[in-house]
Amino acid sequence: MTETPVRKKAVRIDTAFDVTSPATGDVVGTFPIHTESDVAATVARARVASQWWASLSFPQRAARLDRWRSEIVCGTAELAALINSEMGKPVSDAKLEIAMALEHLAWAGKNASKVLGSRSVPSSLMTLNQAASVEFPPLGVVGVIGPWNYPVFTPLGSVSFALAAGNAVVFKPSEYTPGVGAWLVAAFGRAVPEQPVLQLLTGGAQTGAALCRSGVDKIGFTGSTATGKKVMATCAETLTPVLMECGGKDALIVDSDADIRAAADAAVWGGLSNAGQTCLAVERIYVHEAVYDAFVTEVVERSAKIHAGAPSGSKIGPITMPSQVDVIRRHIADALEQGGRAVLGGLNTVAGQFVQPTVLVDVPETSLAVTEETFGPTLTIAKVADMDTAIELVNASRYGLGATVFAKKNATDIARRIRVGGVGINAFVAYATIPSLPLGGVGQSGFGRVHGPEGLKEFTYAKAITRQRFPSPLALTTFARSERTDSIVAVAVKLLHGRTRS
Ligand code: NAD
Repeated sequence: MTETPVRKKAVRIDTAFDVTSPATGDVVGTFPIHTESDVAATVARARVASQWWASLSFPQRAARLDRWRSEIVCGTAELAALINSEMGKPVSDAKLEIAMALEHLAWAGKNASKVLGSRSVPSSLMTLNQAASVEFPPLGVVGVIGPWNYPVFTPLGSVSFALAAGNAVVFKPSEYTPGVGAWLVAAFGRAVPEQPVLQLLTGGAQTGAALCRSGVDKIGFTGSTATGKKVMATCAETLTPVLMECGGKDALIVDSDADIRAAADAAVWGGLSNAGQTCLAVERIYVHEAVYDAFVTEVVERSAKIHAGAPSGSKIGPITMPSQVDVIRRHIADALEQGGRAVLGGLNTVAGQFVQPTVLVDVPETSLAVTEETFGPTLTIAKVADMDTAIELVNASRYGLGATVFAKKNATDIARRIRVGGVGINAFVAYATIPSLPLGGVGQSGFGRVHGPEGLKEFTYAKAITRQRFPSPLALTTFARSERTDSIVAVAVKLLHGRTRS
């Protein structure tokens, strides 16, 4: 009897994903979707490598990070082309991004010893017999989950500092820019061939979640606020600490004595560069009524010259994520429905994944275009009667990443009153480019810091060490403590702390 062949039901398990160019739609790469067991094996390798890496001295690690830096410098053209093909930004902007990342990498390697090395601290009057010191050992293995919008600068804010602090790193780049991540990890492997100190995982949310559950000693997350909340929830299962670099709705303030042309230039670059897909992008602007009309005219004139198109010939490229185009459209529509006016662009500027600059005025503060991260080349400009009002409106946001202030007389006072992680006075985003300054947000923009000394300490733990130099004449922490000692302590406490009551 001939057996009827059983038709097996095809079960397709996705083991890889394609990356498509947002400018052309062409497939530009295919990468594996790493599973939970891949993640576990990678973290296990990192655990071994972390012990070797941590055993090196600061100068030995710095020398290896310098070699990695050289690899990146030599490959800048190739890396910039890869950024361009995967996420669409113009090559010259990609090169600028790489240059900025190199500045931070150099700083981290050079300063780790000074910031994290053991240092003596004074003891107190009651503990004079103790020598006290503090040092900052590495955590062990750090997982870094990155976004696509600055696929070198942003993840390296965590990766470079975690490595310089002595940790091994497992890096999962965005599924939109895995090739950039792979390039950086391969370059590190050439510079540091001894052990897999920096490794790559590719995939989307599930791979990221597996990394959160893998037992790494910290997750450095950069991405949207919504995903940040999921990452925190997953990390809570294993009490894995997290650094959260999340979204923003940054504002630019223009006072009546500001240099209007310079303010407009910063507003246009801050709002439109990278097609507005910058966590620190200027999305809303508050302008003193005395200079409002002149400022709007200047911004519109400059923005009208910026065209989104095929990156080689344009100042700005496409919107990287197809789903973001709908968000941008919804925010513009909401602003217009609520009484706003488009003085440049508007809904008709959205064509495929290219969005032309849009400048909106008279938009109510309740509109999505003012309250939510748009992540597109749009600006809202609002007229205010004074700087107190401007500050109040800026601080009304649930986000608190960065801000820019254009002013003369009261610039510093205004900057101090804004509740954000960084403020640039008379220049856009300078605080993110100065290596010795910390970068990060408050509120829904996240917590923790990359860059600067704080960024190094973020990937360590503070360890306190005391050494008894001689037995204390006042034996306090012993059952042999006498009544006489208690009386001396009572007198000492009064002398030291009792004079505060008036
Ligand atoms: P996203 O939140 O969609 O993704 C970020 C990363 O998280 C990706 O690698 C993604 O694969 C991963 N991920 C998604 N779901 C996950 C899950 N459940 N568990 C673990 N990992 C998960 O963000 P994006 O679209 O890639 O980036 C844009 C966002 O990033 C914007 O909101 C922007 O403001 C923000 N951003 C912030 C900073 C900063 O310094 N604060 C810098 C750059 C970008």
